[in-house]
Amino acid sequence: MIAFLNGDYRPLESVCISPLDRGFMFGDGVYEVIPSYRGVLFEVDAHLDRLRRSLAAIRIADPLTGDAWRKMLERLLSLNPGADRAIYLQVTRGVAARDHAFPQTPSATVFAMVNPIRPPAPELAGRGVGAITLPDQRWGRCDIKTVTLLPNVLARQQAAEQGAVEAILLRQGKVTEGAASNVFVVRDGHVLTPPLSDAILPGITRRVLIDVLRGTRWPCDEQPVSEDELRGADEIWLTSSTKELLPVTSLDGKAVGDGHPGEAWHEALAAYQRVKPAGPSA
Ligand code: PMP
Repeated sequence: MIAFLNGDYRPLESVCISPLDRGFMFGDGVYEVIPSYRGVLFEVDAHLDRLRRSLAAIRIADPLTGDAWRKMLERLLSLNPGADRAIYLQVTRGVAARDHAFPQTPSATVFAMVNPIRPPAPELAGRGVGAITLPDQRWGRCDIKTVTLLPNVLARQQAAEQGAVEAILLRQGKVTEGAASNVFVVRDGHVLTPPLSDAILPGITRRVLIDVLRGTRWPCDEQPVSEDELRGADEIWLTSSTKELLPVTSLDGKAVGDGHPGEAWHEALAAYQRVKPAGPSA
């Protein structure tokens, strides 16, 4: 696999980053994961906008222009041909003597690599997945897509150890999001998702789904979702760029609704699939 580091394209195995890189030392950086379907990037402008927002929030000057970002992403895809791919890209505050405060002359490290998208097997999505709930122990700026992911890592590991695919996080009696996904619930025929705030990542899949649901029988309201509403939901869905739209059929070991992916999920997934790029050969 060919990766990108600071202007060079080279095999991932030969990419070296200094241990003094502030991403390694402090988790001082941000990232994006951008899906592509049959060689066509999906929602690339939205991902690049979010990247710019994350960089500005942690005060790293954007190292590339919009055009240069797009060219780099396209080149990386062409060097790693294949079907459905996700580009992982990361920008850190660069290499400097270890000191918490910013270096005098920071020089960002820009890294990107391509991974296959492994959407859940159709039988898994068709059956639904398990999730657990956990207290949200993260910081107050979860709207920034930072590489500092330790609480998310620990939550996801706890879920895995309990045979679940995701941990749904609760703060002050309300759902925030999953460890690496946004959360939607369906109750009494209404689709709800927590509103944007500094407690959740503004997921691109979340936004695309809200948009496509407008054209269905299941428009979505962005409003707070209480723990009781989560536990009493008829359906729960998780969204992310690599998971797309996944039905949760068991929460903390108890069936969600009738324990099967619901009617709304089937319609929402079909609507989402219609807006994904079909690829140049379609
Ligand atoms: N919330 C968190 C904490 C995440 O890590 C992710 C996935 N990166 C999401 C939500 C979903 O975001 P997106 O749809 O942009 O992948």
